[in-house]
Amino acid sequence: MHVGVPKEIKNHEYRVGLTPAAVAELVMHGHQVSIEHDAGAAIGFSDADYQQAGAQLADVGTLFAEAQLIVKVKEPQAAERARLREGQILFTYLHLAPDPEQTNDLLASGATCIAYETVTDARGHLPLLAPMSEVAGRMAIQAGAGCLEKARGGRGVLLGGVPGVPRGKVVILGGGVVGSNALAMAVGVGAEVTVLDKSPDVLRRLDAEYGNRIQTLYSTATTLEQEVIAADLVVGAVLIPGAAAPKLISAELIARMQPGAVLVDVAIDQGGCAETSRPTTHAEPTYIVDQVVHYCVANMPGAVARTATQALNNATLPFVLALANKGVRQALEDDPHLLNGLNIAQGKLTNVGVGDALNIAV
Ligand code: NAD
Repeated sequence: MHVGVPKEIKNHEYRVGLTPAAVAELVMHGHQVSIEHDAGAAIGFSDADYQQAGAQLADVGTLFAEAQLIVKVKEPQAAERARLREGQILFTYLHLAPDPEQTNDLLASGATCIAYETVTDARGHLPLLAPMSEVAGRMAIQAGAGCLEKARGGRGVLLGGVPGVPRGKVVILGGGVVGSNALAMAVGVGAEVTVLDKSPDVLRRLDAEYGNRIQTLYSTATTLEQEVIAADLVVGAVLIPGAAAPKLISAELIARMQPGAVLVDVAIDQGGCAETSRPTTHAEPTYIVDQVVHYCVANMPGAVARTATQALNNATLPFVLALANKGVRQALEDDPHLLNGLNIAQGKLTNVGVGDALNIAV
């Protein structure tokens, strides 16, 4: 199959659909890969790296005109949507539910559109979202540690402390993928860490893994308040699938936190878990409310685009190979989890959740 990888054109998007290593795998399986000039240059994957892996360089027009399978990262922008054509396969993050304009363009294109975010696995999880949660969770501690410095408005606390001085106190709300990755980093830097979750299974798993190096607590309004008030750094990592993030931290509770404490609200892409949270960007990642530094960047992995690209490719490559090796029809027939990724086929919407959100019959 002919696989095409355009350079991402969304503002400040430096990730790329395939790494040179992923290209080499496809080429080894007998496929042809076209990559747009400089598609990975911003994150250290040069055109020469791709050529060495067996790809050919192409301009964007030729790439969209000739490739049968387009592999990207972000949802196609208007200019890209105009290039998609009937019978072509698009494999990327789409997030169609809040985006009727994109949905209509994709329906009109006649392309088969498979969304990373709705592909499932045997445990009912979302394996192509998980790598970004891993990245954001690990980043949350380094972002939070920076915000605790005086120059950033923080209370001037070093998370690991030093001999004879108390360690910083990190409170993580939600022990899922983001929370457990934040936890690993917080323990790694030597902080004092408490994790709150509503799921006893999650608390048991974390307790079994870390023993008395961490505190696990069942999340109630009382435990949450007690911990948040005492924290140097709070990480918001809760998720209720299919719903906005619960507002666990009221504006009043923010006002009672320690002056210079930090909230890294990773759940901001679902609205955030504090009443005072609003989305920020990497250009201006923080703002201060009642002396509490808020870091609420909605696309945290974008800041570490090289790592994020590699993590994403590890998860997407088996599906890209299946699509290329078997063709789209057989690949979807063989794998119900990839089939769950199918959002648009032959001009029709095929995902119930997206249909409900946009009021379109599926
Ligand atoms: P997850 O489903 O793996 O974990 C969520 C956890 O929250 C679960 O363990 C659940 O039991 C727990 N939870 C639910 N309600 C709770 C409550 N009231 N108190 C305590 N815990 C509660 O989800 P995840 O992959 O870890 O994602 C967490 C959030 O991070 C999501 O909103 C996700 O969209 C977001 N995210 C943001 C970025 C970013 O760049 N900002 C990147 C990746 C993920």
